[in-house]
Amino acid sequence: MGIDSHASIFAPLPPRADGRKNLVGLTRAELADELATLGEPAFRAKQLWRWIYTAGAVEFSQMTDLGKSLRARLEDAYVIERLTETRAQHSFDGTAKWLLKMADGQEIETVHIPEEDRGTLCVSSQVGCTLTCRFCHTGTQRLVRNLEAAEIVGQVMHARDQLGDWGRNEGDRRLTNIVMMGMGEPLYNYENVARALRIVMDGDGLAISKRRITLSTSGVVPMMRRCGEELGVNLAVSLHAVTDELRDEIVPINRKYPIRELLDACRNYPGVNNARRITFEYVMLKGVNDTPADARELIRLLDGIPSKVNLIPFNAWPGAPYECSTPEAIRRFGDILSAAGFSTPVRTPRGQDIMAACGQLKSDSVRQRRNRAQASDAAA
Ligand code: SAH
Ligand code: SF4
Repeated sequence: MGIDSHASIFAPLPPRADGRKNLVGLTRAELADELATLGEPAFRAKQLWRWIYTAGAVEFSQMTDLGKSLRARLEDAYVIERLTETRAQHSFDGTAKWLLKMADGQEIETVHIPEEDRGTLCVSSQVGCTLTCRFCHTGTQRLVRNLEAAEIVGQVMHARDQLGDWGRNEGDRRLTNIVMMGMGEPLYNYENVARALRIVMDGDGLAISKRRITLSTSGVVPMMRRCGEELGVNLAVSLHAVTDELRDEIVPINRKYPIRELLDACRNYPGVNNARRITFEYVMLKGVNDTPADARELIRLLDGIPSKVNLIPFNAWPGAPYECSTPEAIRRFGDILSAAGFSTPVRTPRGQDIMAACGQLKSDSVRQRRNRAQASDAAA
């Protein structure tokens, strides 16, 4: 697929068969508007918001501080929808991967990675990806559609359900951090991702702070500034190569937004400073991008950008055209960066036994755009 084909994946989901509307994914203002149509005052929206996003309620009957008749009217018109778990896999290292089905039958993967001091949820932004990075399994998936905000927030709510996290204070939660590093390119679905993250960051609800959220992009340069200005989340950039020649080949979006433009956008990312650095992701591919000369060029390129470099050992998938660099090559590469003053964590692969590691996600969804287009024609 071409890199511009994302423009064709915006068709809205058809309405639910029972005519009821999902409240998940609405902004606070939209929720207040819905309640106004029922003749209810704005403070009801606040109560409802808390039930949905602080308590994790799924039934209106649980909402004991709302009158019986209001609960019945809500029940008639609305749902608080969850995604349907079609498979859950657990790695020996504690990583969980959930395959989640959405209303149109499409599926996405969400991964929870527990660590000693945190639990990180790797959230998907699209079914598949329109980009075709050579080393990434998601890029081989044929179907692509943008996720709705409700489906992005729904992944976080599913994790809270599974981890027993509802109603807990920040210090007691198992899920503490979010990385937009699952399937898809989040900045090709910016509006929905932004809406979802605003809901996730709302302090009176899911309450995950922007400091604990990282969005990873393959380099959609024109959207980066807005992301920083409007959301203020941490940025990770999938660099992976130090020459345009190689990056054109392995991260094809580089043909549109080459390394220089990408790094300029990083330099100008709102809020970036030494305390809030940009993470550059660099997948270690044997014999492709892992020489000491590559490391030195990387240091030169990143000069003046408050950055850290995350070295990601390549995770194999069936039919992948690459191998992972040797541990010695990774160590040597990391040592050169460290000597130049970079923080250079090597990302420990997690959940490899269940194909949950970086770049291994792929659901079996097949292209349905035509069906969706037909559905919206029929509705028109
Ligand atoms: N689409 C976004 C976010 C998802 S991928 C992006 O590309 O940034 C999260 C990270 O995993 C990216 O840096 C991606 O390049 C990397 N990745 C993809 N496939 C990989 C693989 N097979 N092994 C290791 N890392 C991989
Ligand atoms: Fe898409 Fe990111 Fe995979 Fe590239 S690495 S194909 S942008 S998900």
